[in-house]
Amino acid sequence: MECPNGCPVPMKTARVERIYYRAGKPVVIRGLEVYVCPECGFESLPLRSARLVEKVLNGYMEPTGLFSAPLFQPVPVGAG
Ligand SMILES: [Zn+2]
Repeated sequence: MECPNGCPVPMKTARVERIYYRAGKPVVIRGLEVYVCPECGFESLPLRSARLVEKVLNGYMEPTGLFSAPLFQPVPVGAG
């Protein structure tokens, strides 16, 4: 997998935690596989991961737990 930005180094596989929104509610996917360019930081979602995200967002997958964390919202909704 090559970086679309034309970096000379190959992209690496990494496992990340991502928040997506399903019907306006946040859902967390842990251990999601992504390709990351070590040079410029560009991230790309492998097809396998894209399908997984789709499954979760379409409600085809049951959650394995609940996740809660502090929310930081530097810009209040409706301001500025
Ligand atoms: Zn790159």
